[in-house]
Amino acid sequence: MRYISTRGTAPTLGFEDTMLAGLARDGGLYVPEAVPTLSHSDIAAMAGLPYEEVALRVMRPFVSEAFHEDDFAAMIARAYAGFGHDARAPLVQLGPNHHLLELFHGPTLAFKDFAMQLIGQMFEHTLTKRGDRVTIVGATSGDTGSAAMEAFRGLDAVDVFILYPHGRVSEVQRRQMTTPTEANVHAMAVTGHFDDCQARVKDMFNHFDFRDRVGLAGVNSINFARVLAQVVYYFTAATALGAPHRPISFTVPTGNFGDIFAGHIAKRMGLPIERLIVATNQNDILHRCLTTGAYQPDAVSPSISPSMDIQVSSNFERALHLAYGGDGAAIAQLMDELKAGGFTVSQGALQALREIYASGRVSEEETSATIQDTLARTGELLCPHTAVGVRVAEAQVGPEPMVTLATAHPAKFPDAVEAATGIRPALPPRMADLFERNERVARVDNDLSAIEALIDERRAA
Ligand SMILES: *Cc1c(COP(=O)(O)O)cnc(C)c1O
Repeated sequence: MRYISTRGTAPTLGFEDTMLAGLARDGGLYVPEAVPTLSHSDIAAMAGLPYEEVALRVMRPFVSEAFHEDDFAAMIARAYAGFGHDARAPLVQLGPNHHLLELFHGPTLAFKDFAMQLIGQMFEHTLTKRGDRVTIVGATSGDTGSAAMEAFRGLDAVDVFILYPHGRVSEVQRRQMTTPTEANVHAMAVTGHFDDCQARVKDMFNHFDFRDRVGLAGVNSINFARVLAQVVYYFTAATALGAPHRPISFTVPTGNFGDIFAGHIAKRMGLPIERLIVATNQNDILHRCLTTGAYQPDAVSPSISPSMDIQVSSNFERALHLAYGGDGAAIAQLMDELKAGGFTVSQGALQALREIYASGRVSEEETSATIQDTLARTGELLCPHTAVGVRVAEAQVGPEPMVTLATAHPAKFPDAVEAATGIRPALPPRMADLFERNERVARVDNDLSAIEALIDERRAA
């Protein structure tokens, strides 16, 4: 399997180089040249299998030239062994025809662990084989960073630097990033928003001197290996609810568009997904774009679902690439227009997007009301991101089963949950001492050379 850039001019790469590169050298994102398909009977045979077995069958065609099957199975087994639930991604019923897919049983209590734990194993395997060493740099609105540090801490071949917006992540998120004691993981608090952090990471990747000198690698959701790991739970959930014999719809609390794009890949692989519904908070650029065709970033407006507080949704570029029929030059043009303020999707591409995606937007008041109301009607405590999804899904439940992705554990956002319900959700016992551990963090300005200097100073030579 070869991977090509959405902007059409970067070199075509195999899986391991795609994974290590993160961002393509033309500024684009890597996508598979052709998405492999699974037959109706292949999919039917997944029902009831352990998560790890489904993971192997779904991801195998994407990685088979890179990893021996036994090695890959061992990586999958190690990745999910630390999860706090045997099903890994269990389903819980919320109402008639509406189910919650709990993706928060990993070590940092958000769905990011599914991809990050696996990518940690895959990086270690590939780098050890090649005798290589890399510097991973990532931007986080909270959950990616903690998941990355958890997945890579203590590994020999990797230094990890995570940029997060100072004062704009929850205390649990911050502590998960600032308390690991291993010397190869570093939290950096940047004066600015998530979009600033993400822009500085992109700047570092486009600064080829620095990129080559430190061996820069990315594990943000722009990394296709991340997206790939997230395709798996669409299959486990859909087959548990009757796919491929009947279609299933999914509602996904969305920010950077990685999680929902994984659903798009699942659909292209042959999983009968009826609708993929983008749920946004008040930072609703994706909802506006799918409604009007205009992709116009606004100022970020901080919300109680901070992991979705973004205005530039990186993985949307992958959906655009498909909607424009793989026309890299057209995507490069749109991204140039974006730098100048925004772009409008062509009528044909908008229609193609709407054949796959629907959308909804949820206000802060509606998010709180949904947390409160869901507790009263079902006994389930939702995190605010999940509540955004549940609110959008409830308005759109149809004849086919609806699955809303529960993207984080409520205890990761205790203030918002307590404000809505009066109940302060407790951390699972395995991380109950989080508030007693020492914190270690570097404060840094939103300035490329300051950030690069700090990385040079702290990484192992
Ligand atoms: C990252 C995150 C999201 C958004 O996912 P994307 O893949 O960026 O769209 C939603 N909820 C939570 C809790 C997250 O951590």
